[in-house]
Amino acid sequence: MNFSLQDITRKNILALHPYSSARDEFTGEASVFLDANENPFNAPFNRYPDPRQLALKERISQLKNVPTGHIFLGNGSDEPIDLLFRAFCEPGIDNAVAIAPTYGMYHVAADINNVAYREVLLEENYSLNAAKILAAVDSSTKLIFLCSPNNPTGNALDQKEILRIINEFNGLVVLDEAYIDFCPEKSLLANLEKYPNLVILQTLSKAWGLAGIRLGMAFASHEIIALLSKIKYPYNINLLTQNKALEMLQSPEKKEDWVKKILQQKIVLTKDLAKLPNVIRLFPSDANFILVKTTAAKKIYDALVKRQIIVRDRSKVQLCGETLRITVGTEAENKMLIDALKEIGVI
Ligand SMILES: *Cc1c(COP(=O)(O)O)cnc(C)c1O
Repeated sequence: MNFSLQDITRKNILALHPYSSARDEFTGEASVFLDANENPFNAPFNRYPDPRQLALKERISQLKNVPTGHIFLGNGSDEPIDLLFRAFCEPGIDNAVAIAPTYGMYHVAADINNVAYREVLLEENYSLNAAKILAAVDSSTKLIFLCSPNNPTGNALDQKEILRIINEFNGLVVLDEAYIDFCPEKSLLANLEKYPNLVILQTLSKAWGLAGIRLGMAFASHEIIALLSKIKYPYNINLLTQNKALEMLQSPEKKEDWVKKILQQKIVLTKDLAKLPNVIRLFPSDANFILVKTTAAKKIYDALVKRQIIVRDRSKVQLCGETLRITVGTEAENKMLIDALKEIGVI
């Protein structure tokens, strides 16, 4: 590897003087705040939130065993995904490489930023082939997107292949671990120090049950985190989100309990789905959802909607013909799905 962060960062971002907020300039103890033109009434919501989210990062640092300087917090994972394009990809010139099929936001963020997006198909069994990814890279490739466990396929990617890509690529590898809490394989977070070109994305939206508050996390070198922090909106994480996230992160046992319950239900759901005549194949899942090949995905999807049950039709996605992506719900919800699928039958 011959990685230089300076070399891959856009020149305007390197030269940027970021906005300095009132709450950025001051740190320490104070009781009278006349610096930010806030309303003195309606505490605590009258105050701007901490732009650096230090209390929240301290807690995440303890939980994840990663120093606070290696943590970026965003308005969902969507924010760091977008900021990575803005920091490293020159519109109209640079490109990003990604596995396909995968999470749709990488492509959308590339399009918004006018950055060419090169898709490299996974193998037929949805496994990762590092050589194919590396063959799609050229001197203008700044980002490679990997997702493990992958959405919508549900499988974890082979760590040996992921590490080969990290080791041989001179740009940034973005590894999305949104579903890592459900996965028997370990996160690569413990190896962050070893790889200056690795960015790991995690989120509170899935295992932590907090999709509504929008909190995404990016973990990377101090230098990468500093760049992302420099270009974010100053108050990107609102007060309600910071407070709620801190509260939930005090109870990791709750998250563990939910994960356990969801994984138990996944086993039951898998067994029940496998017996249905309109289910042709279940793909192995390391996440909280199952990709299911059916006899007729669109028709079954519509028939489920009529019964007020919504799954995700992935039949238009490459390598996913006639599939539905089914999130594991509660025991009662899963039973309603199974009963509905029985009723619908082969169509
Ligand atoms: C659900 C999901 C996320 C979460 O995105 P947020 O913006 O944090 O809610 C990220 N990546 C993948 C692959 C997902 O499926």
